[in-house]
Parts: sequence; structure tokens; C-alpha cells
Amino acid sequence: VSDLAGRQVTVAGLGVSGVPAARALRGLGASVTVVNGSDGEPQRAQAAELEPLGITVRLGDGETVPDGTELIVTTPGWKPTSPLFLAAAEAGVPIWGDVELAWRLRGKDAPPWLAVTGTNGKTTTVRMLAAILEAAGLRTAAVGNIGVSLLDIVLGDEPYDVLAVELSSYQLHWAPSLRAHSGAVLNLAPDHLDWHGSMAAYAADKGRIYEGNQVACVYNVADPATEDLVRAADVEEGCRAIGFTLGTPGPSQFGVVEDILVDRAFVTDRQKQAQELAEVSDVNPPAPHNIANALAAAALARAYGVPPTAVRDGLRAFRPDPHRVEHVTDVDGVAYVDDSKATNTHAAEASLGAYEHIVWIAGGLAKGATFDELVLTAAKRLRGVVLIGADRALIREALARHAADVPVVDLDRTDTGAMAAAVREAARLARPGDTVLMAPACASMDMFTNYNKRGDAFAAAVHDLASGRVPDD
Ligand code: ADP
Repeated sequence: VSDLAGRQVTVAGLGVSGVPAARALRGLGASVTVVNGSDGEPQRAQAAELEPLGITVRLGDGETVPDGTELIVTTPGWKPTSPLFLAAAEAGVPIWGDVELAWRLRGKDAPPWLAVTGTNGKTTTVRMLAAILEAAGLRTAAVGNIGVSLLDIVLGDEPYDVLAVELSSYQLHWAPSLRAHSGAVLNLAPDHLDWHGSMAAYAADKGRIYEGNQVACVYNVADPATEDLVRAADVEEGCRAIGFTLGTPGPSQFGVVEDILVDRAFVTDRQKQAQELAEVSDVNPPAPHNIANALAAAALARAYGVPPTAVRDGLRAFRPDPHRVEHVTDVDGVAYVDDSKATNTHAAEASLGAYEHIVWIAGGLAKGATFDELVLTAAKRLRGVVLIGADRALIREALARHAADVPVVDLDRTDTGAMAAAVREAARLARPGDTVLMAPACASMDMFTNYNKRGDAFAAAVHDLASGRVPDD
């Protein structure tokens, strides 16, 4: 820790991860400069907070490396190809993300990390894992990309036995020395390719989670690319590849047999067969993608030595976060489900696969995605579609190609009130027994501050519908 005292460290970016990083580094005695390309009101306010601590803030220039910089600590907004990093690489200055910093600053007796990444299901799996570890009586927390800074945890006073850590591909990209106890890649689908540059680069960054694993590399049997990443990783001797599957598990796998989640990997000689962990109905909600998440969480927990009963108790205690396939209410026999967190096609595919007859509310920012595959797999289940948001034409065109007989209402709107109109249109298309599913397959920022706000707008519109209120929009 004392390593950084007196060192010249440049933090790339302010915001939710730059500000705490700058404070922490200053607290460790480093001489800190924060650089940030934009120079607006919020940046000035943050600068005014940091400067009294002796931190230099340079606004309006995020491209040149300040003189004397020995280390750059970066935040997720910055692409690897940013001029600042290219200049740093040229000058031989190392670049660490917040996770790398936390990993290096952790104490001697620091708790091991059980780490989770993947395109979708990270937050859910990490929360399930923390619930299971808690049920085993362990002192733990769900941390990392989930919104709890690892730096705060590592530098804080609270003692932990083990941490359930969510890691994004950005964080993994800049965390070269991280060595988790065990790690899992839940799935791999194209996302954030604008940041990583290519699918191969994105996958390789995710695969970093397996580097140096001590006990288990957990992969998805249905997603062979995740197993390839395990093979490519350099792990500690004795570390095992453990697969999870929704089908019957092979040896060294977790899976499902007659609606029971079972472990065939960490069984003692005497049991030999499979260890029963929990029932499918213990998983909340028991949709296929979520059972996969539960199996991954169980595999990491069992790798840490948690007993089977704790897996069951933890899964029963787990409550999903809002906006993830959340049932809002029923109106006239139609279920309204908020999956605002489905910000990419892979996530939307999971929730569209969980219902029979669907009126789908979709659209937003596509982030370079294509929708043909999603529309093809969902077509038979669609009663109708209501489109909103900036990139809705991409979805409309895919529907025209692969589901021409499905009625589509294109609202041609990107204002916040469009969600209420979309819900009313969806209600018109739905029949009793159907599900109105808001799983946009797109990011929300064209219309809302974030996916939470989009989900809240949907829920509010559904409650208005239920009470017969028609808001002005
Ligand atoms: P993340 O933290 O990776 O964004 P979340 O648990 O918040 O993941 O879920 C994000 C979205 O992905 C939600 O819409 C959810 O319904 C969907 N989802 C969750 N788990 C999976 C999975 N294993 N495969 C596909 N989609 C999933």
C-alpha cells in the first residue's frame, strides 16, 4: 500500500469511479492529477470537491499525459484506443483499472474473490452467490461492477471471509494481475463491441477472469466459447473446469435432473453420484436463463466449500433486483412484465423465451446490434409488437423480414411519454392470458436517464392502465 506514497498518479476521468479512485489514491499519499475531456458544470463541481484534498484536476484536456506521470488509473468510459492511453503506452506508463488498483491494494489476509462476468446475468448471479454464502454463515458482500466499489471494500474496515465480485469486460481489460479463487463466464454475446473493437477482443477480456484461478473455472456448457476461454487460461495447478448446463450434467458439471439442481463436480467419493442442491422452484423466477445463473452461483459457492443446504437456503432467500423480468401486475387477465434491464438482444432473447404469447415493447439505442436472429427465435410467440425509441426502424425491418404477419405499432416517438402510449397500444393488442413484455433489446439513453427510469415509466403506465387513468402525454 505504501508503494503509492509519493508517486505521481493520473486518474483518467471523474464520475462515479474516478472520484473515489482519486480520493483513495490521495489518501495513500500519491500525488494525484485527474484529467477529464469535458469541462461542464458537473465536472467543475466534482473538481471543487477534489481540489481541497490536494488533488489537481485538469478539465478540457483528456489526451495528453501530465508530466511526471508514473501510473494511470482509468475509469470505464475510456476506450483502450483513447489518445491518452496510446501516449501512455508509448511512454511506458502502466495503466490500471479500479479493479487492478483494488486487487493490488488488498491486505495480506484479504478475503478471496469469487468472480463473475458474462454478457448477461452478472448482477443476478453475484447476488445469488452472496445469498448462498450468507446462508452458509460467511461474512460476504456482493461487490464490484454491481455498484459497490472494490476500492472502498478493500480499504474499508469491515472484515469479510469471501467476496462475490461482479466484473465487467472493461474492468477485466485493465486488471492484468487479478487472480480469483474461482471465476465464471456466464455467456458471451456481442455487446460493447464499440469499446473493445471486436468480438474476439471482447471475449479475450472476459476470459481474463480465469487467469490464475485457484480452484474452479466455471463455464456454460451451452456456450462453447466460454469453455474455450477456460482452455486458453493459465490457471493454478489443480484448478478444475466446471461446466453448468440446464440438461443432465456430466462428470464435473452442475445441471438439472428431474427439476432438481444437482452437483456432479464436488461430490465426495462415498456419494459418487450427484449431490442434490435445490429444486427448480427454489429459483426466483424459475425461468431457464435464471436457473443457469443459479447453477453458476452454486458452482462458485461449492468450489469455495459451501454445503448443499446453504445453496438451497440462499436461493430461497434471494430476491431479484428490479427491472429484471419483474412482474408488475395483471390487468384484464394480461400479465405486464418489466425487463428494462434487457439492454441487448441476448438478454431480450432470454425473457422472450420464457412466455408463450407475448406483446413485445421494444426499441431504444441499438449500440450497433442486429435484430434478425432475435426476431426469428421470438416470431412464433409474438402476438404483436410496439416500437419506441431511436433505433426502432432496425427492429421494424427485421420484423418485416421474419415475422411479416405479426402486427406492429411503430409509435415513431422518442419522448418520455412514449412509454405510456406504448403500454396502451400493447393493452389493445393483448388477449387474456398473454404477457406484455417490455424487453427493449436496446439501451435506454435515447429516451431515459437509464434502464431504471425506463422500467419505472413502464410500471407507472401499467398502474395507470390498471386504475383506468389516462395520463396526458
Ligand atoms: P448483468 O449484470 O450482466 O447486466 P443482470 O442480472 O442485471 O445482468 O440481467 C441483465 C438482463 O439479462 C436482464 O434483462 C435479464 O433478464 C437477462 N438475463 C439474466 N440472466 C441471463 C442469462 N443467463 N442469459 C441471458 N439473459 C439473462
